[in-house]
Amino acid sequence: LVEGEPRAAFGHVRMEGVSRRFGGAVALDRIDLRIEGGEFLALLGPSGCGKSTALNCLAGLLPLSDGEIWLDDERIDGLPPERRDFGMVFQNYALFPHLPVRKNVAFGLSVRRVGKAEIARRVDEALRLVELSDHAHKLPGQLSGGQQQRVAIARAVVLRPRLVLMDEPLSNLDAKLRVQMRTEIRRMHQALGLTTVYVTHDQEEALALADRVVVLRAGRIEQAGSPEEVYTYPASTYIAGFMGYRNLLEMRVESRTDGRITLADRGLRLTGVPQGEVPGETAVAAVRPEDFTVAAGPGESGSAGSAGGNVLGVRVEVSEFHGREVAAEGVTGDGQVVHFRLPERVAPGTRVNLTVPAERVLVFGGRE
Ligand code: ATP
Repeated sequence: LVEGEPRAAFGHVRMEGVSRRFGGAVALDRIDLRIEGGEFLALLGPSGCGKSTALNCLAGLLPLSDGEIWLDDERIDGLPPERRDFGMVFQNYALFPHLPVRKNVAFGLSVRRVGKAEIARRVDEALRLVELSDHAHKLPGQLSGGQQQRVAIARAVVLRPRLVLMDEPLSNLDAKLRVQMRTEIRRMHQALGLTTVYVTHDQEEALALADRVVVLRAGRIEQAGSPEEVYTYPASTYIAGFMGYRNLLEMRVESRTDGRITLADRGLRLTGVPQGEVPGETAVAAVRPEDFTVAAGPGESGSAGSAGGNVLGVRVEVSEFHGREVAAEGVTGDGQVVHFRLPERVAPGTRVNLTVPAERVLVFGGRE
């Protein structure tokens, strides 16, 4: 595939009311999703939320129980996988072990009876793109995991697919390689003008890669938006938990003033910003560990800090050195666990006062 070469143009792919059941279990529940041509879309959610099912329905590997899939004005949910012209990259690479890299990448073109010279040209391009030209004659078993995954990517993009579907392609790689390959996948997506749907349970991966993140929960779309939107304004405690709001503190509603709500419980008082309706007598305060800062001097938990911030006194139980930061866990006087950061490690039992501005505390209606 030559960079910048015009592609089989398409405007968008649409899932309309797509459901998939396995016996009585509903894996996908009336999904409506539009994937724009050129977009990088991440399907994010924990194990079992339906990500792979959604991808396999798009690919044609799983028939739908209900609903339709459209590519512009062509209905495609009745088409077999090979007629959809989509590329797939899986977690386990799925390479042919007895074929050298070159033949693995060429395989789909050979099956499609593309001419020899054309195959050679396109395979060369694809291998150069994934920086494997020097390994073309090796067998997959002679390559590292990261290199094998690059072969799988080359094999998918060499077919010039209209849509590339990736199912946790990096999850078998070590942490450093994962980050490196992530950048490569994004670069390739841009260079080739691909349209990509990428399944992951890793929020960092989704945020780093995608133009748009779609969070699934129990087979339904819980939130869809840009990485910045989903990260900054999670639509629920479920998504907040995924987006690094490690502290989800269920507390009693104590008072409401314009645009603010104060929760109290177990020796803790937190004022925050309500996210949508918060009608009940209890609510959940969501706070990122890194949004707490350590206040100087001892103070009373629950007292109003300067500038309307929250102050809470905790006893440190664990502090771990993580290189750039120290991650700590502590408890309030009444045993409420709080996660936060410290400037340095401290002895267990040390008392610290934490502050967090009210605008950094998101308040959600009672936990669903
Ligand atoms: P994971 O990250 O673990 O792969 P996922 O979000 O991709 O999870 P799916 O694999 O799509 O989730 O599964 C969604 C639900 O459908 C799960 O409850 C799963 O048990 C069920 N499921 C998926 N495939 C089948 C199948 N072939 N037969 C029966 N149930 C299935």
